[in-house]
Amino acid sequence: MPCDICSAPRAPSIVSSSAMCEIVKRGFNPFTEGLIPDSLAWLATPETPYDWEKQVFNGVLSNTDWKVCDTCLAGIEKAGARSALTK
Ligand SMILES: [Zn+2]
Repeated sequence: MPCDICSAPRAPSIVSSSAMCEIVKRGFNPFTEGLIPDSLAWLATPETPYDWEKQVFNGVLSNTDWKVCDTCLAGIEKAGARSALTK
């Protein structure tokens, strides 16, 4: 299954929607962390990171688990939101 954050082909980790909300509240954003690949990043506008956060709280993935790749997991860790994963 692809990563729900960056679309990488392999996403072995599962993050619950509530944990993902907490992670975002702690400041994680894949756009500002540079996790979005160039193939997708060129589509981004200045509003995209904000729109992405809204998706986390209210979008289709706000009620379901997120599939997350190792790179994004490392980004979450780098943003200091690692402890939110244990929730
Ligand atoms: Zn990813």
